Amino acid sequence: MHELSIAMSILDMAEEEAGRRRAEVDAIYVKLGALSGIAKEALLSAYDLARTETTLETARLVIEEVPVMIFCPRCKAPRGVHSIQQLCCSECETPSSEILQGRELQVVALERPPGIQRPEAPHRESWKVEKTF
Ligand SMILES: [Zn+2]
Repeated sequence: MHELSIAMSILDMAEEEAGRRRAEVDAIYVKLGALSGIAKEALLSAYDLARTETTLETARLVIEEVPVMIFCPRCKAPRGVHSIQQLCCSECETPSSEILQGRELQVVALERPPGIQRPEAPHRESWKVEKTF
């Protein structure tokens, strides 16, 4: 199961980072592109399965879905698309192969549990990982 191995790599990354920072993790923030090939619901249920018996058992996975943006050669501007099957500009219908966003599956931030923040430690610590599938 593809999503399960992705969920496990997300957990591995978060555990490693939490260990390095000696911090507890309350939430893992992920950006999921519409073209990543991963469905949000599938990733959430895989995550629920994968996190049991890890140190991140209580950490939430927060998924932000990222819509596809292309660079339209005719409008000369970033544009949305009507459908992810046909990457055409939503304004003028010109096809584009220049995808600006929408392919990512990226861990963008870790959140500490509330109540233990100190002024010197920001509430949200983030690190960035890009995975290509
Ligand atoms: Zn256009």
